[in-house]
Amino acid sequence: MSKMRFDVVQEAFKKKALEVSAPASRPSAYFGELVFNRDKMRKYLDVKVYDALIDCIDNGRPLDLAIADDVADGMKEWALEHGVTHITHWFQPLTDVTAEKHDSLMEYDRKGGMIESFNGKALIQQEPDASSFPNGGIRATFEARGYTAWDPTSPVFIQDDTLCIPTIFISYTGEALDYKTPLKKALKAVSDAALPICKLFDPKVRKVISYLGWEQEYFLVDEDLYAARPDLMLTGRTLMGHASSKNQQLDDHYFGAIPTRVAAFMRDLEIEGYKLGIPLKTRHNEVAPNQFEFAPIYGECNLSNDQNQMIMNVMNRIARKHGFVVLLHEKPFDGINGSGKHNNWSLGTDTGTLLMGPGKDAKSNLQFIIFFVNVLAAVQRHNGLLKASIASATNAHRLGGNEAPPAIVSAFLGRAMTDVLHKLLEVPSGTPIEIAGKKGASVGIVEIPQIFLDNTDRNRTSPFAFTGNRFEFRAVGSSANCAGAMTVLSAAVAQQLLKFKEELDKELAAGKSLEVAAMDVLKPIISSIIDVVCFDGNGYSDEWKKEAARRGLDTQTSVPEMIKTFTTPESVNLFTSLGVHSLKELEARNDVKWEMYTKKVQIEARVIGRMAINHIIPAALEYQGRLLKNVSLMKDVMPESYKDQASVALNLIENISSLVKEIRTKVDAMVEARKKANNLEDEYAKASAYHAIAESLEAIRKPIDKLEEIVDNDSWPLPKYRELLFIN
Ligand code: ADP
Ligand code: MG
Repeated sequence: MSKMRFDVVQEAFKKKALEVSAPASRPSAYFGELVFNRDKMRKYLDVKVYDALIDCIDNGRPLDLAIADDVADGMKEWALEHGVTHITHWFQPLTDVTAEKHDSLMEYDRKGGMIESFNGKALIQQEPDASSFPNGGIRATFEARGYTAWDPTSPVFIQDDTLCIPTIFISYTGEALDYKTPLKKALKAVSDAALPICKLFDPKVRKVISYLGWEQEYFLVDEDLYAARPDLMLTGRTLMGHASSKNQQLDDHYFGAIPTRVAAFMRDLEIEGYKLGIPLKTRHNEVAPNQFEFAPIYGECNLSNDQNQMIMNVMNRIARKHGFVVLLHEKPFDGINGSGKHNNWSLGTDTGTLLMGPGKDAKSNLQFIIFFVNVLAAVQRHNGLLKASIASATNAHRLGGNEAPPAIVSAFLGRAMTDVLHKLLEVPSGTPIEIAGKKGASVGIVEIPQIFLDNTDRNRTSPFAFTGNRFEFRAVGSSANCAGAMTVLSAAVAQQLLKFKEELDKELAAGKSLEVAAMDVLKPIISSIIDVVCFDGNGYSDEWKKEAARRGLDTQTSVPEMIKTFTTPESVNLFTSLGVHSLKELEARNDVKWEMYTKKVQIEARVIGRMAINHIIPAALEYQGRLLKNVSLMKDVMPESYKDQASVALNLIENISSLVKEIRTKVDAMVEARKKANNLEDEYAKASAYHAIAESLEAIRKPIDKLEEIVDNDSWPLPKYRELLFIN
């Protein structure tokens, strides 16, 4: 056993970086090579077909089945040139991974031979078995049909030998069974709500676009060490492991030089990402040892989210080439930082104006303030729901720890914008809003300080931070599908913008100018948020928890409870009024979330129980046996003084006995609790019971980690934190 760990560690340590064979051409030449983008459409489609498809993509018009055949033909030609033999509808069910079912392109040609065939119908729709995916009881297994339908706004791409067609996934009766469907509805809702406001400032605006720029954090571990850790393999995180003597206290990893083997992996990943049209921009080490991050240039939200899902799939495949495994779990290691996925989010017009940042003149600044304040109002109103949107069994380990956003959603504005809001409350409505330094300071002007534009004033403890031209929703977990968070945020903002516009219209109808009317509506909103959702202090402190509760923010920390927020009357009204979710869908999805929560904790509980009994206790007893032999020999040799001579060994023997007993008792109690929980029918009740079990796993871990400290290093059966985290 110990020999095995020793060998594995040696092997891992000896691994050398792989040479990455970069394509001969520069990245811009192969960027998007594996994507059926506009260039390819132009090349492989007839002009009329091209125009119709672009109209459908840009203006949301439905795709005519007649042209779908022609589109499929063009795609097939392109795909065959890349050696494609299969197609799949690629979708995002309510699991942690994307789904695909490959069909070969081969068909009989009715002349005795075979032919590659792909038509419009196969492009547009397929019928996978919906009962094999989480559906919250919407599909009984006997009526298992579900549909996948092409989302033409997400380009088709090639992975290996397969043409992947991004699709939505809905049940036979029309309920969404995926992440993409509600996201698309919510994006449309926010665009529709924002458009009439933007038109007041620029009548030429035809569309408002949501932008997403995600920052993906992850850990890498050596694949040999990974394989020696059943907990990592089965749950994605270590369920036991004493902290390494050195971890992140020296702050020597963040932004440090990227280790050679990791750099080779990153380079390979980027090449693959570029080919898939993913505009990867930054890469760096993160705070914890073996933790890294990359981020693309932001893009349209639905597309950017697809790209995140694509790259999450690609990551592990490439990592294996380099002898690594990627951990996307939010908290793979206790005691060091976990991984998140900051969702940088903003709105912009099709005329190129970013709505979440100050503009060139007073008018565009007013537009910015309108969006800025309304976003904050939406976040305040639905703070509990936003938290629920990022809640999961895995992200629960991160929230509330002193390293990640707390389990309270508040917004960080920074000094400059806080001052601007206060000033706006003081001056008469209609006072021009200028950027200081640009227009000089005339009396009565509210100034957005120039310095603010390159504001690096960051508050790492805030879950929702304003960062100059965007908001950064930081509470999203590293393994999450961003769509969950983006759907709720978009819907909340859409609802608030509609309400704002309604009130603005009343003021305008009363004959006020836009400048005066807008501020008259905004002022009461500003007053209602400035001391509630806006919080620039330390989000980790205990005082904030109390203060937040006093302010009426949601302070719930239990994931099963958070999930309930999706079906409060207020949330149901939000989703149904905008057509994002039906009540039936919301209820079904809650069942799915509770079920997922239960299953994850259940797997962890089984794994830690078995590891405790099959790995840890035997190793401890084996070492204890050696100690006992040692004591017994001492007793033979020096019967008088052995108690004193063997005091350390005797002490260890006792310690081991009591820790082993503690582990066994706690595991037995946990197994009993599980049996009871498993008998519960109701998904919420079961998840709540498993919430208590999740907490008991921490208690089982403690004596195990203590044993790791005292048991002979050679006998310890599992790679330790210092090995998992410092070999690369
Ligand atoms: P930091 O770690 O400093 O927050 P990064 O450069 O790692 O910044 O990531 C910032 C992310 O925010 C990138 O994906 C970037 O494209 C994105 N981003 C920048 N501006 C906007 C914006 N206006 N809307 C949405 N995303 C944005
Ligand atoms: Mg960031």
